[in-house]
Formats: sequence, structure tokens, C-alpha cells
Amino acid sequence: MKLISRVERGIIKHKSISYGTTNLGITLEIYLPEKHEPKMLLMAGIHGDEPDTTVLLSEALRSTPIDELHNAVILCANPDGMSRGTRANARGVDLNRNFSTDNWTSNPVYHRNHVGEPQDIALSTGHKPESEPETRGLLRIIDQINPREIIAFHSALDCVEDPNNSKLGQWLSKNSGLKLIDDVGYPTPGSFGTWAKEKKLPLITFEFPEEPLTHMKTRFVNILNKLLQNEHLSEISD
Ligand SMILES: [Zn+2]
Repeated sequence: MKLISRVERGIIKHKSISYGTTNLGITLEIYLPEKHEPKMLLMAGIHGDEPDTTVLLSEALRSTPIDELHNAVILCANPDGMSRGTRANARGVDLNRNFSTDNWTSNPVYHRNHVGEPQDIALSTGHKPESEPETRGLLRIIDQINPREIIAFHSALDCVEDPNNSKLGQWLSKNSGLKLIDDVGYPTPGSFGTWAKEKKLPLITFEFPEEPLTHMKTRFVNILNKLLQNEHLSEISD
């Protein structure tokens, strides 16, 4: 695997395009390979209170040479939430409950700030499915680039969720040491994962553990580098 020299890893040199604008007017950015057709989309930061996902994926992107990037990358799918430190976007909508699915509901979704706390903080799912520009932009760009598989990064449930128990899911679990599960065990109406399942688009949810970022950089960035460069493919055997 080729990596950019450390001195050059301070900025992102890959080309990005805009796929929309947030409620607060921030550009939604996706990084696309210049030399390859992207078969996979890696997406972080749909929950603004999970900045570790963005930092880890950014570090991998910044260490990948331009010619070696094989896949599409969204570092932050919810910049408004990230800038405000909220799980939801600027209108209080949990974007991961705003997708158009058979089971979408207008009932609020409840979350917790920390693992172990009660799940009692209410967020909106939007006034209708795809009510939010961040959701609509994401669906538009997915339609355009047509990835064969998606990995959505979250924290901190400490697992790899893959409803298809695919070779990629198994590889991610084996290399990260995170347990592989096929379902989080509770309904997630309107989630990105449920949307993808209905569209039969393979989507794996990678949930980083609740660990200091410094530990996680050592533990996970190498795996992310392999995914960006498709190096994992040679390690996935039939
Ligand atoms: Zn999340």
C-alpha cells in the first residue's frame, strides 16, 4: 500500500465536488477518485456528535496518494450538526431517520449521550421523509455515482453491522476486532441502513468503539487506508 509522506498529510489534496448545501448554507462535499471508477462509498459524520468518524476517515484520506484513491469519500454528511456538536442537523432532525423507507415514522427518535445512559433525548425525524437537504443531497449523489456497496461510519456501539454477513463485513470484523452482527436489535425506521436494505444496496454500518481518538488512530486508520485503496480486495478470498 502506498502512502503520502508524513510531511504532506496536513491537507486534503483529493478533488471534491459539492453535492448540495446544508440548512445553514455549508457545502456538502464528496471526494472522488481521479483515476478510478468508485465502486464503494465511505461515509462519516451523519451524526454531528460522532466527530471521531470524520477525523479517522480524514486521516486515511490525507495519507492516500491521489492516484491510489479508488473509492468515494464523504467525510461529514452533517456539517451543521458537527459544527454545533449535535447529533441532529440544524433543524433538530436525526438525518439517519429521515430516509424514505416503508417504515418511516413521524414519531420522535430517542437517543442517549453516552453508552449506559437511558435513551431519552428526543429528536425529530423530519416533517416528511427526505425533508432535509442533507438527506436529499446524499441520495442524489448516490444515484449519480452508483456505488456497489457503502460503509457508513458511526460511533460508539463497538460493532460491525452487516445484514448480509458479506465477505467485506467479515473482513472488517476480523481486521478491526469488532464483533460482527447482522442487526442492532432494535427498529431503525427511516435510517440509511433500512433505506439501503430496501433498495438491495449492500450497506455496512461500522461503529467505532468508545475509545480515545489517539488509540483509534493506531487501531483503525490502516484499515481505512486499505479500503480507500481497495487493498482489502486481495485479502478477501472466495
Ligand atoms: Zn451514529
